[in-house]
Amino acid sequence: MSFENLRTAVRGGVMLPGDADFDRAAQPWNTTVAQSVAAVVEVADALDVAAVLEYARQTGRAVVTQPTGHGATGDIDDAILVRTTRFNSIDIDAEQRVARVGSGVKWGQVQAAAAAHGLTGLAGSNPVVGVTGYTLGGGFGWFASRHHQ
Ligand SMILES: Cc1cc2nc3c(=O)[nH]c(=O)nc-3n(C[C@H](O)[C@H](O)[C@H](O)COP(=O)(O)OP(=O)(O)OC[C@H]3O[C@@H](n4cnc5c(N)ncnc54)[C@H](O)[C@@H]3O)c2cc1C
Repeated sequence: MSFENLRTAVRGGVMLPGDADFDRAAQPWNTTVAQSVAAVVEVADALDVAAVLEYARQTGRAVVTQPTGHGATGDIDDAILVRTTRFNSIDIDAEQRVARVGSGVKWGQVQAAAAAHGLTGLAGSNPVVGVTGYTLGGGFGWFASRHHQ
């Protein structure tokens, strides 16, 4: 099964080495880190994620995800890199003081949306840090010492 099968299986973008957009798509935020991935998929929806995982299962490829590549370490050679950039929804329930965001959203975007309601979040100190990576893996935010465990 070739990567051309993956191109037809997903609605989002599939970038392979040699494609015009590949270098841009594979580049993490941390430009000191090189990432020799086999493919980059900018998933459009949950079905795309399922299609990538099914392709990886059938071909024995590793799958990694990076909203921004802020925490890139360079240890993902030959993997399929899933970019969640298109999952960019932000829904603020000001009354409940709850934000529900897509997995590609960055903290700066949440801060801007929350500020319209006089609210803020337990954000990273850099506005381009991704909410998902920061929440799962940690970072350093303005309120971290008081509110993070
Ligand atoms: C050089 C460097 C500078 C930094 N500077 C700052 C800073 O100024 N301020 C600050 O607050 N933090 C900083 N950090 C820490 C940063 O907040 C963390 O690395 C954080 O995890 C980055 O999240 P991200 O989503 O932006 O990064 P990414 O590298 O895109 O993602 C980090 C990891 O999160 C996991 N992940 C993300 N999304 C998903 C998902 N949907 N499903 C499953 N796993 C997922 C993956 O394991 C991924 O590798 C820095 C880190 C480094 C290495």
